[in-house]
Amino acid sequence: MNPRERVPLAPYCTMAVGGPARFFVEARTEADVLEAVEWARREGLALRVLGGGSNLVVADAGVDGIVVRMAIRGVSIRESGVAVDLTAAAGEPWDEIVGHAVERGWAGLECLSGIPGRVGATPIQNVGAYGQEVSDTITAVRALDRRAGRVVTLSAGACAFAYRDSLLKTGAPDRYVVLTVTYRLVAGGAPALGYPDVERHLEVRGIRSPALADVRASVLAIRRGKSMVLEAGDPNRRSCGSFFLNPIVSPDELRRIEAGAGDLAMPRWPQSDGRVKLSAAWLIERAGFQRGERTGPVGLSTRHSLAIVCHDGARASDVVALAGRIRARVEARFGVRLVPEPVLWGFEPGALDRST
Ligand SMILES: Cc1cc2nc3c(=O)[nH]c(=O)nc-3n(C[C@H](O)[C@H](O)[C@H](O)COP(=O)(O)OP(=O)(O)OC[C@H]3O[C@@H](n4cnc5c(N)ncnc54)[C@H](O)[C@@H]3O)c2cc1C
Repeated sequence: MNPRERVPLAPYCTMAVGGPARFFVEARTEADVLEAVEWARREGLALRVLGGGSNLVVADAGVDGIVVRMAIRGVSIRESGVAVDLTAAAGEPWDEIVGHAVERGWAGLECLSGIPGRVGATPIQNVGAYGQEVSDTITAVRALDRRAGRVVTLSAGACAFAYRDSLLKTGAPDRYVVLTVTYRLVAGGAPALGYPDVERHLEVRGIRSPALADVRASVLAIRRGKSMVLEAGDPNRRSCGSFFLNPIVSPDELRRIEAGAGDLAMPRWPQSDGRVKLSAAWLIERAGFQRGERTGPVGLSTRHSLAIVCHDGARASDVVALAGRIRARVEARFGVRLVPEPVLWGFEPGALDRST
């Protein structure tokens, strides 16, 4: 193994900020991953796994350790009746997998069109959008268990999927390196419908019985309108998508927040466990932030108040400072503490608090 030294990470991340990795290696095979993990162990170095860098903020000082960029490719299919088990290697670009499934008429991923990044990251935060989540279809995650020192297969149950969360993200962070993910799709299945924005878009297009490809096209169009696909030339391009999770609160907390907000039209989505999901975007706007608002080289997307966007000259410290100000103002106004969605590398714990 021949890791490169002091490799800038900004070009590998959609926000395009942050410093270098002390060591950096591209893993094209599972053997490369094993070798890198063993090398890091021998050298006593921290190891970080990088996919497409679309849910990541790297500190300006960079990462003291080795960064392994997952570039393992490969897809295999097993069909049994209408069930299609699609297994993809961690380095496969996610949207190519979705496009492939839709083309073949395999239902299960169509609403997840246009999400940047690679397959290996999809189970980490249980990627989701427009009424679908990967936990609806994942049956197995094959991963290198760094603690046990062997390759294991985790069932969906073992992954403990939740809203933008899993065992891999918060339960045992950094323990597993995802190698392959298996999604169970349905050949000839109907597309997932029911998400209001998608239904409205299909209606406007005059489509009454949408095929998978119609849903994919509508999702992509809606996402484009919000700068939620990566497109060259889009001034909102340098983001991580949504910077904060939608908060999920108890009924008591809801009553308190509602009383403070003084607006019965506050958006909310009841959850199956009795709690209620709120809109982080709504809270941010009501706390006084506006789309397109800028603080020097960072700001909010002109099309989505949940996305923090970098412009020329931005640094990771600017991103974290704006995120900290947003969080502090939402907390002061509503008593709700927003939780960042992207993973922060190289920052001290509490970096958002100190930046306000
Ligand atoms: C414009 C835009 C829109 C977005 N829209 C959505 C959306 O609708 N829904 C949504 O859920 N997300 C969305 N995201 C966030 C992001 O695209 C997803 O979370 C995506 O899955 C991240 O993939 P990645 O390969 O870029 O991961 P990275 O950013 O490289 O990594 C993210 C985390 O996953 C870990 N990781 C990555 N690969 C592996 C692996 N093989 N094994 C172990 N750990 C790994 C990393 O260590 C890191 O902790 C959006 C982002 C952008 C920029």
